[in-house]
Amino acid sequence: MPIDPTAPYDDDNIFAKILRGEIPSSKVYEDEWAIAFEDINPQAEIHTLVVPKGRYVSWDDFSAQAPDEEIAGFVRAVGKVARAKGLVEPGYRLLANVGENGGQEVPHLHVHLFGGQKLGRMIG
Ligand code: IMP
Repeated sequence: MPIDPTAPYDDDNIFAKILRGEIPSSKVYEDEWAIAFEDINPQAEIHTLVVPKGRYVSWDDFSAQAPDEEIAGFVRAVGKVARAKGLVEPGYRLLANVGENGGQEVPHLHVHLFGGQKLGRMIG
């Protein structure tokens, strides 16, 4: 089923279960606003997911509805994870899939952090 980024938040989604500790994850970072864990199906040498703790489906409702403090906390967490993983030099890639055309599979906002190798150009 394609993800509808305008649908109400589903508390049964897999990242909600990880956030509640009901499903294990290889967690690499946690703070007040976010957790980060390794993607179960890595697409690069380093492929980490950074997930806000708030109940947001996608970048759409997050950017429209989250308080500024929460947005700042999440964005800072993404940067902290990249630094903690030693990716700032020689660089990395961030990606957020939104909805059907974006290829979103999990209906809880997350940012993919790719690194550890030279990444090709990818669109489509
Ligand atoms: P999306 O297409 O941006 O929604 O990507 C969802 C990502 O979550 C995919 O890269 C999956 O491999 C990853 N994923 C799904 N379930 C789990 C899990 O239980 N642990 C870690 N990563 C997961």
